[in-house]
Amino acid sequence: MNYSILVVDDSWESREMIMSVLNTDEAYDIALAENGEEALSKMQLKNYDLVITDISMPVMDGLELLDHLNKEMPNIPVITFTGFGDLFGIKALERGAEDCIFKPFDARDFKLRIAKALKYSHLKKYHDRLEQKNEELRMLSVTDQLTQLYNRHFMLDALGREFARAKRYRSKLSCAMVDIDHFKMINDEYGHMQGDSIMREFSALIKNTCREVDICCRYGGEEFLIILPETDRRGAECMANRLKRATETMPIFKVNSTELMDELTISISIGLAYYPDPRIKTEQDLVGLADEALYMAKDKGRNCVIVA
Ligand code: GH3
Ligand code: MG
Ligand code: MG
Repeated sequence: MNYSILVVDDSWESREMIMSVLNTDEAYDIALAENGEEALSKMQLKNYDLVITDISMPVMDGLELLDHLNKEMPNIPVITFTGFGDLFGIKALERGAEDCIFKPFDARDFKLRIAKALKYSHLKKYHDRLEQKNEELRMLSVTDQLTQLYNRHFMLDALGREFARAKRYRSKLSCAMVDIDHFKMINDEYGHMQGDSIMREFSALIKNTCREVDICCRYGGEEFLIILPETDRRGAECMANRLKRATETMPIFKVNSTELMDELTISISIGLAYYPDPRIKTEQDLVGLADEALYMAKDKGRNCVIVA
């Protein structure tokens, strides 16, 4: 693997010397800059694995360059080298440099320090990629594929967690069980693909209607459970009615198209339960009561909100 290194120094003798030391047996791809400003513009055009920079330079010195890189490209390791003693070395480390080499340097030691910084940076990149992949996998494992809401597995965990918190801190917790009305008819009349598309649009509407801290989950089929932390009966009713109204006027697009289906609207029924309530001892009781309230809403003729 060819690492690319940017060497920044105002003295051409220094640049030449570093080039000759690094070029002896390692195949590094080396670019040169005369000051911090030139280095920054080169770094806009190409990714470097390492920057080796002098500290004292005209136009923009090494410490200023470090400040810029800290803000704009924090993942690129920087090694400073200086002929000005320990104080500059410590300053450079404080301002984000990976290492500091003093002039005059021993060529073998210099090469070793560069190789070490590159190895560390390579490992760090690998580690960061792995972390990112892990995070993606974690999100995938708690997300419902069709709706992009939380799945049932996550929902059960979240319910347990939120209920325990509400009980421990005597705070409020509500939940809303939401079911799309006559969804079978919509599938029968417009096809499952259109049904799936409506489910996706409705799920996005749920997310937009709720607060950031509310936990929106697909319970199963065309049923959704919204967990509302720190929310009392009034707050839950307010959210439920807002969602009901927004659903009635939700624009529905033809599947895979921007064409509106003016003739098609949907409605939802919502059952609400809230804690504290003397009937509720566990999170299952909370969901059970919301479910009962949903049945009542269906019985009452649908498109309404019922509180348990
Ligand atoms: P109700 O008002 O009583 O809720 O009537 P409904 O037709 O919505 O309820 P029912 O329980 O009879 O049927 C639910 C329908 O939801 C049937 C099923 O095909 C549909 N459904 C469930 N999950 C999905 C899905 O992921 N995609 C699509 N397109 N349809 C789904
Ligand atoms: Mg339904
Ligand atoms: Mg249903």
